[in-house]
Amino acid sequence: MNSKKSIISYQRACAVIPGGVNSPVRSFNAVGGNPIFIEKGAGSKIYDIDGNEYIDYVCSWGPLILGHCDRDVVNAVIEASEKGTSFGAPTLGEVRLAELITQQFPSVEKVRLVNSGTEAVASAIRLARAYTGKSKIIKAAGCYHGHVDSLLVQSGSGVASLGIPGSSGITNEQARQTIVVGFNDIDAVNKAFEQFSNEIAAIILEPIAGNMGVIPPKEGYLSAIRQICDKHKSLLILDEVITGFRVSLGGAQKLFDVRADITILGKIIGGGLPVGAYGSRAEIMDLLAPLGPVYQAGTLSGNPLAVAAGIATIEKLISSDVYAKLEKRSSQLEQGLLSEAKRLGVAITINRVGSMMSIFFSDKPVENYDDARASDVEKYNKFFHLMLEKGIYLAPSAFETMFVSYAHSDDDLQITLDCARKSFEELDRNS
Ligand code: PLP
Repeated sequence: MNSKKSIISYQRACAVIPGGVNSPVRSFNAVGGNPIFIEKGAGSKIYDIDGNEYIDYVCSWGPLILGHCDRDVVNAVIEASEKGTSFGAPTLGEVRLAELITQQFPSVEKVRLVNSGTEAVASAIRLARAYTGKSKIIKAAGCYHGHVDSLLVQSGSGVASLGIPGSSGITNEQARQTIVVGFNDIDAVNKAFEQFSNEIAAIILEPIAGNMGVIPPKEGYLSAIRQICDKHKSLLILDEVITGFRVSLGGAQKLFDVRADITILGKIIGGGLPVGAYGSRAEIMDLLAPLGPVYQAGTLSGNPLAVAAGIATIEKLISSDVYAKLEKRSSQLEQGLLSEAKRLGVAITINRVGSMMSIFFSDKPVENYDDARASDVEKYNKFFHLMLEKGIYLAPSAFETMFVSYAHSDDDLQITLDCARKSFEELDRNS
């Protein structure tokens, strides 16, 4: 694989951008080596500036459920951009996107659009504190909710990938407002409520963890959390930035029949353009300015291009067989990987919910952050590079999700499985 241009470009980038990247995991720091610079994408593939082609299982970290350059999404963006890129005044597209969201998420009567998942989470936390009059937030170790100060404590995603405990620049006061529990651990949540009974404004959770690799909730976990929140008059914030419109039209809430008080969305609802959203019942959302005392605003919020891409994406998800196809393909991939690994005696555990999936190099179940960290990360890193060399682009970190898109074909899967077989063989030979 020729990567001359990517290597030179990375050096150039490092001179003017911290670490050469605008988001840490892109740097390949976790897996080692030089990041590839992308020239373009089409369907299930991306192409780097050295002319290498890859089957892409990162899919922009989740937004591209329809694959790269889906014709309907691209046309919607072109059409919107020809009418103007931003007005800072209401547009009908915003209303349409809000309607599409509220129709699919029964727990969301009203929704605010912002520019990123991070912004949505920060705003939702402010709203939860205002509504409850309490200040502490419970989060699960290994879950990532964007780079909101108080939630970077024991965070997943890039923080986990880089093996750092949190982030500097956060005051003790902010960190003290966060209580960290183990994912899938109900007892820990009960203990936190015993200790801080009237101080907990909300529990924030990824209903299916995706930022320590994929970890599904254990049976009964989400409904037990729901009951605890009701008992203590605390809010349940479900961060569906990854899972919203990914695991079903109504996200993980629909799949697991659980109701959030506040839902966070992002990624897919912007169809690959920058967006975030948070929504709840009217009683809570009407605390926001201009109706209420909680301030939150944004110059580019509800941006016409992002909204157009989101509407085109969601309308296609509603009108076609996307989820059935994603389930079929993803399950084929999971089964194929498991059987190749088993045949070659490579110990792996695959966690999968629909088209979100992770390969852990571990012979044990992976049910929380400790389990994920106990997997053989070095082996994943080698596997990542062996696959990359063969034209398969996996997440450059053992603590991330692999996404299958509607554009991935049977041929793509077959090629991926052939490459995985060879990579498992090479791993085996070198171990
Ligand atoms: N919440 C979850 C579950 C995420 O996975 C992410 C990003 O990956 C975020 C929040 C933050 O979203 P953004 O990167 O758009 O700020």
